[in-house]
Amino acid sequence: MDFSLTKEQRDIKRAAREFARGELTKERAWQYEREHAFPRELYRKAAQLGFIGLDYPAEVGGGGLGVTENVLVIEELCKADSGIGLAIHLAFLPAKIVKIFGTEEQRQRYLAPLVRGDFVSAISLTEPDHGCDLTRMSTRMEYRGDRVVLDGTKIFTTNGAYADFFVVLCQDDPTAGPGQGMTTVLVDRDPHHHLGGELETAEIEGKMGLKMTSSSEVVFKKLALPADRILGERGRGLQQVLGFLDQSRIEIAAQSLGIAEGAFARALAHAKGRKQFGQPIIDFQAVGHILARMFSRIQAAKWSTYYAAWACDHREAAKLASAVPLLTSMVKHHVPETAKEVLDDAITVFGGYGYFLEQDVERRYRDNRIIEIYEGTVQIQLNNMVRVLKKLNPDFLDASLL
Ligand SMILES: Cc1cc2nc3c(=O)[nH]c(=O)nc-3n(C[C@H](O)[C@H](O)[C@H](O)COP(=O)(O)OP(=O)(O)OC[C@H]3O[C@@H](n4cnc5c(N)ncnc54)[C@H](O)[C@@H]3O)c2cc1C
Repeated sequence: MDFSLTKEQRDIKRAAREFARGELTKERAWQYEREHAFPRELYRKAAQLGFIGLDYPAEVGGGGLGVTENVLVIEELCKADSGIGLAIHLAFLPAKIVKIFGTEEQRQRYLAPLVRGDFVSAISLTEPDHGCDLTRMSTRMEYRGDRVVLDGTKIFTTNGAYADFFVVLCQDDPTAGPGQGMTTVLVDRDPHHHLGGELETAEIEGKMGLKMTSSSEVVFKKLALPADRILGERGRGLQQVLGFLDQSRIEIAAQSLGIAEGAFARALAHAKGRKQFGQPIIDFQAVGHILARMFSRIQAAKWSTYYAAWACDHREAAKLASAVPLLTSMVKHHVPETAKEVLDDAITVFGGYGYFLEQDVERRYRDNRIIEIYEGTVQIQLNNMVRVLKKLNPDFLDASLL
């Protein structure tokens, strides 16, 4: 058994850490947080340093690597700052579905500018009446030969206010059964690419955390687009989205991992430096045990995330393809839940100071809370796991996963 990262992976992780420590400063974070602004300048810098598109093919300027390398970068960014780390990652994550299912032309049109840091992507699945249940969409897509026409409303789209393009899940065939007849469509924000109708976005105010991103309602009013904006196969939209989520949810888990690690480092330093009753508070067993447990929880979350990423990248060679959805849902529920406990503990270690923005643990707590919700709630991940576990061959489970 070899737990070591390759030299290239270590170099990527080190470079991401140096960038994050140098650029994702507290002053910048507070400014973006106060202004609810997207950290575009840092997004561009991250792109220039090659951290965006690590898993894209070389033809669009990508690194030709995998989920594991993305996980290492996201972990470091979110360790340094939860708000900026999440904002940068969520700006490029949706585009992964274009990498998986896009044509060569679509990859050039959408991924190449994204790798340069010029484009921000968004994915619009959720609707007012279809949240966890994506087996039917109210947003309609009508195919008219040379064009498609979209009609409907999406809600909670991250980056809605400034995304350059949206990946939209629509109901193509309204007579199809649950989970069928859906198609994914690429929608440019630039109206020059529209053949008629309107695209409108409206900000949904008052979020708990994730303040450096926009969350929008996105409305398509008979929006007509060239037919080459269809992504992948007509009628297989939901299946494609689920294929994307199998990879993206592992990267989402890395967000919580980094957020928890950053909080732990701060809490440990505080516990060693803060004195009460004439001694550092870490020497009170009650506080020391909290820190020890935080460390254990983080290590369990870390290695399960790395394993899920590795299994996803080596799913064919390691004969783990059927287990990837199980591992994906495992880390997507387990890591943010673990991080929530770790962050709560960090606030305890900081005492009253932990309740204020200054120590940067309450903001991490608020930022982490969304990770249990978006890209499929904790409950939906557990449902997915039960579905897979019921089907998995017991011999495979015993030999490969236990
Ligand atoms: C800040 C933010 C950013 C987001 N970004 C995006 C984005 O970029 N794109 C996008 O498409 N969506 C996005 N979402 C939407 C997010 O994915 C949904 O909110 C989430 O999937 C849950 O849907 P819902 O809010 O309608 O809750 P509901 O579906 O109404 O669920 C409510 C509760 O019931 C539980 N529940 C529902 N069904 C079941 C079941 N079968 N078994 C057990 N429990 C169940 C849920 O787990 C939840 O606890 C975002 C949401 C937020 C808050």
